[in-house]
Amino acid sequence: MSAEAVIRPLADVMPALESLYRDLHAHPELAYAEQRTAGVVAARLRDAGYEVSTGIGVTGVVGVLRNGPGPTVVLRADMDALPVEEQTGLGYASTATTTGPNGESVPLMHACGHDVHMTWLIGAAELLACTREPWSGTVVALFQPAEEGAGGAKRMIADDVFAVTGQPDVILGQHVFPLPAGTIAYRSGEMMAAADAYDIKLFGRAAHGSLPQFAVDPVVLAAATVTRLQTIVAREVAPHEDVVLTVGRMHAGATGNIIAEHADLTVCVRTFDEAVGERVIGAIRRIVEAECRASGTHRPPEFTETVKMNVLVNDEAATERVVGGLRAQFGDAAVREMPRFMGSEDFGEFGTACGAPSVFWLVGGTDPEVYAAAQEAQSVEAEIPVNHSPRFAPVMQPTLTIGVTTLVAAAMEWLGDA
Ligand SMILES: [Zn+2]
Ligand SMILES: [Zn+2]
Repeated sequence: MSAEAVIRPLADVMPALESLYRDLHAHPELAYAEQRTAGVVAARLRDAGYEVSTGIGVTGVVGVLRNGPGPTVVLRADMDALPVEEQTGLGYASTATTTGPNGESVPLMHACGHDVHMTWLIGAAELLACTREPWSGTVVALFQPAEEGAGGAKRMIADDVFAVTGQPDVILGQHVFPLPAGTIAYRSGEMMAAADAYDIKLFGRAAHGSLPQFAVDPVVLAAATVTRLQTIVAREVAPHEDVVLTVGRMHAGATGNIIAEHADLTVCVRTFDEAVGERVIGAIRRIVEAECRASGTHRPPEFTETVKMNVLVNDEAATERVVGGLRAQFGDAAVREMPRFMGSEDFGEFGTACGAPSVFWLVGGTDPEVYAAAQEAQSVEAEIPVNHSPRFAPVMQPTLTIGVTTLVAAAMEWLGDA
């Protein structure tokens, strides 16, 4: 069934969606703290006629719209923001902060575009509710908390989300990405990497900054460790294996005249192959423990697993069906196959848990002219801010219009004729 009739009123509702987007962008909240956000999306869903359940997986929201017999199509968006200080200079930029575990002020920003995802999903949910004649079945709008490594999908599943949604026939999701707006990128099969992260505590011995002979300096230990960890990917993994090892956090000390007591690292490993992942994690332990011995620490390092995400796999038949719908809507040139990449997502957990096929794709959010100029100057990497950058600022149009349309078009591939 063509999505055309459902999409038709989009231009009329777009001003309201743009103001929803600006509002969500200006009010970011961290994982499992998406209280205001959940309230905003729940109210919109209720107004549109959805049966709304809240508090699934702490702050998750599920809206269900039954429209006769037919398949159950779950559309998923994520809600959490990041501890990033926004530097976009946008009029609706976030100045929000929250309080960290040690009482410190933590800046907040929707630096991954989850505000875009929520706006897309509200737009699609409203359009499907407002034009019900061309389709039949059940639409589920699922708003997931804590995508950024904190296990929000698994938490919703543990909270029995499928008792609320019913058994899905397909689960669909999409992410804004620094491709030129107008481009949609998909991949059948393995699309995004598994991720494992560990907090590592290195114990030194504190002393006066003038008395290194009394200390075991954890700053020097941490610096040596971080440098040596880089050799795992370069020297221990076969060149054809995709592996990224990033030390995303390194913290030690308070001031110049004190040698610190301990140093803290967070290491994240991304892989596609489980055996390779285990090997890399084994190598991390070996190097960290050996560097501690080399420094003469009195206490072994502590490892705490903080993130465990699986490879995101798109169902092949379902991907073909979605891509068919997107090509019909946008033309072949706009819908491109992409290589797998090293980002991670817990979207795939839903399909794995309920046995339904799932499809995830990317929607470009960079001004196409800006992107083309950067490409021309061979400076895409230097000039185009990516997800998690403090300068990540998807252009509202055509990004919002395209992302609502893709969701509706993909959903209509399943919802079929009424
Ligand atoms: Zn992210
Ligand atoms: Zn994200």
